[in-house]
Amino acid sequence: MNVDEKLEPILTEVLRRNGGELEFHQAVREVLESLGRVIAKHPRYAENALIERICEPERQIIFRVPWVDDAGQVQINRGFRVQFNSALGPYKGGIRFHPSVNVGIIKFLGFEQTFKNALTGMPIGGGKGGSDFNPRGRSDGEIMRFCQSFMTELHRHLGEYTDVPAGDIGVGGREIGYMFGQYKRLTNRYEAGVLTGKALFYGGSRARKEATGFGATYFVQRMLGTKGLDFEGKRVTVSGSGNVAIYTMEKVSEFGGRIIACSDSNGYVVDEDGIDLHLVKEIKEVRRERISEYARLKGAKAHYVEGGTIWDVPCDVAMPSATQNELTGKDARALVKNGVVAVGEGANMPSTPEAVRIFQDAGILFAPGKAANAGGVATSALEMQQNASRDSWTFEQTEARLATIMEAIHDRCAETAEEYGAPGDYVLGANVAGFVRVAEAMDALGV
Ligand code: GLU
Repeated sequence: MNVDEKLEPILTEVLRRNGGELEFHQAVREVLESLGRVIAKHPRYAENALIERICEPERQIIFRVPWVDDAGQVQINRGFRVQFNSALGPYKGGIRFHPSVNVGIIKFLGFEQTFKNALTGMPIGGGKGGSDFNPRGRSDGEIMRFCQSFMTELHRHLGEYTDVPAGDIGVGGREIGYMFGQYKRLTNRYEAGVLTGKALFYGGSRARKEATGFGATYFVQRMLGTKGLDFEGKRVTVSGSGNVAIYTMEKVSEFGGRIIACSDSNGYVVDEDGIDLHLVKEIKEVRRERISEYARLKGAKAHYVEGGTIWDVPCDVAMPSATQNELTGKDARALVKNGVVAVGEGANMPSTPEAVRIFQDAGILFAPGKAANAGGVATSALEMQQNASRDSWTFEQTEARLATIMEAIHDRCAETAEEYGAPGDYVLGANVAGFVRVAEAMDALGV
């Protein structure tokens, strides 16, 4: 799809103003491609620089993060928080610790988050943060000191009614705990709703850890249902082996699918008997080791491929759950050739624009991340609700809410696509439904 000629100048200006930020360009282009149909139907959405305002973050914070490593050396990293849009509620979105992090990556993630959060129907704006800090190989003490230093600056920009971070790549329960501890120390406030993804015993929500993976699986299950299909007996590959991937594998297995491969940034592992999830959890969550360990421990039953791409493994359903642009046009062609029927994005923007086009041209069911992986942030909003009411719900209650939310997001995307003349196009449905909700709120709040 191309960008409508009325929107072309807006895109050109975004590219100019954010020079070199390729992931941000990619995310904005995809949304603007979807908006041509919206302004054709409702020209008022192109008025008052509404679209231009949506593409410009409300606030961008960049800061120095000094910390002391175990050898006593002072290290410096860069911290970011992009407070993208607060029309629907306090900024909400994760924090990513990864060496690839830069302002363009955080901006793309904050932009996507804004629409994703709108799609949940919950009162949350969009934001994202992170650092180019590489946690790999760092001791627990180093992680703690880094998180404390990061929060020493960030805390002044946060608050349960202002900005509520959570985890993302490289940030899990341990890091959230250290950051919450530092926030509490600096503010002298036990403000449980200032961070989500907390552990249960200090204000966390049941099912939050599982939420992104479970939610993506619920979404894909419902999407398969539109064609009279389900996960039962399907061969499923899940890239990644972090939080999203692990709980996607768990729920897919519960729905009767067989997980045959998963990966990390070094390579992938194939186990035709079905990936042993206990072992993956032990390796990744407890021992914090690489996925190659899986094949070493399983012996002849599984094989590990160093480098290469997991998308070469034939499957019925592909769930890219690692990172942005991990699934290329070439990978998409291989998946289509091998008979994939559905692709559900657990990560944020894991498929390149070319890959998305290939899936859509081939008539493959394709669920974009901003809809399919919204279960994580939706459950964060449920955590905020529990914190605000000083309540704590059961796992069953929380998961039931998550399932209902994911089904509603699915249906909202499908109905919107239909309404705008593109039935089955979940990319268009997600972009338009997310945009309309944010745009309505911004319009109501005035310039
Ligand atoms: N990092 C997750 C995402 O990409 C979760 C954000 C949150 O819970 O605030 O949506």
